[in-house]
Amino acid sequence: MKPYKPERLFVERSVEDSPITQNVLMRLPAVAVEQIDSTHSLLEESQHWNPTIPRAKRWLILARHKGHFFKPCPASRTKQGAKTVCCNYFVINYASNCHMECSYCYLQSYLNFPYLIVYANCQDLLSELQTTFAENPHHFFRIGTGELADSLALDPLTSYSVPLVEFFAGQKNAVLEFQTKSNYIENLLNLDHRRKTVVSWSMNPPFIQEREEHKTATIGERLWAAERCVQAGYPVAFHLDPLIFYATWETDYRNLIEEIFERIPADSISWISLGSLRMTTLLKEIIRERFPNSFLPLGELVPSQDGKMRYFKPIRVLMYQKILGWIRAQDPRIPIYACMETPDVWTKVFQSAPLEEKELGETVIRSLV
Ligand code: SF4
Repeated sequence: MKPYKPERLFVERSVEDSPITQNVLMRLPAVAVEQIDSTHSLLEESQHWNPTIPRAKRWLILARHKGHFFKPCPASRTKQGAKTVCCNYFVINYASNCHMECSYCYLQSYLNFPYLIVYANCQDLLSELQTTFAENPHHFFRIGTGELADSLALDPLTSYSVPLVEFFAGQKNAVLEFQTKSNYIENLLNLDHRRKTVVSWSMNPPFIQEREEHKTATIGERLWAAERCVQAGYPVAFHLDPLIFYATWETDYRNLIEEIFERIPADSISWISLGSLRMTTLLKEIIRERFPNSFLPLGELVPSQDGKMRYFKPIRVLMYQKILGWIRAQDPRIPIYACMETPDVWTKVFQSAPLEEKELGETVIRSLV
């Protein structure tokens, strides 16, 4: 995949001396640096742009995160207060936005601050984690960095992965997950990770990757990266999410699963998650405007209780059941879970929903210890 090179680089004065900032400056010597006191003026400027998203992705900002980095994963809740089954997952927002261009990316309709921003005060992040883990010694945390950004897409510039992997290697009650659609794993290969970092890839058949996941690594490149991580001793994981329903989905997803298991030993795979395509009305409009050739808005999506549109429940259940069967035929033991799905769908696919969130989280974690 093509490396990211921003057109403009802004550095908040408060993070000028951070090692993350220094890494980026060293690797982008030809990009002019503009120093700023805060991000307020950039936000105001972006509000006069139309369209905002393409231009904002070309500007990279290094800034200080002033709030908490660490929080529970915001699994969706229905308007009635019932909720989808959650896997007891936590997230670290080390960055926000992404230079890649998946047509279905929910960040397009979600972020208030449209720029690509990396929070360079990494030491504050690590201190916050250290305090949290020490205050909760009996809780086992599974933590990802891929909620508001791809975990590794900017790693060739920032090397953010290095302090994170080294920090988690020393933790007794936490594992880190890097979730990516890139093949940027070079920084990981020689680290002493002690199997406390899982590297995972979002996967779709090449038919979808080529049409809907622009600027991402090809499926072959992602599998090559996964092979190298396995050789370096990392546990790996896969997210078949979002599953897309189209004419040849059965053949394409079955081939994808076969290829994953041909290239990656099953005992290196910590978990596989499944999730169906979901979008809001606003995101659907954005996809139509930004990706006129995308076929995703043409699918028959219906509103769910949480306000998102999904495929009809029988379609989702059919896809999950078939895919679960194909994975189970390869290996019956790998933990598999459905992301942001209702207890009803869980019961139809897995015969039961987890009794409580903690149970699902622990099932996944047991695969690592
Ligand atoms: S890789 Fe992830 S964060 Fe980046 S555009 Fe695609 S879906 Fe969005």
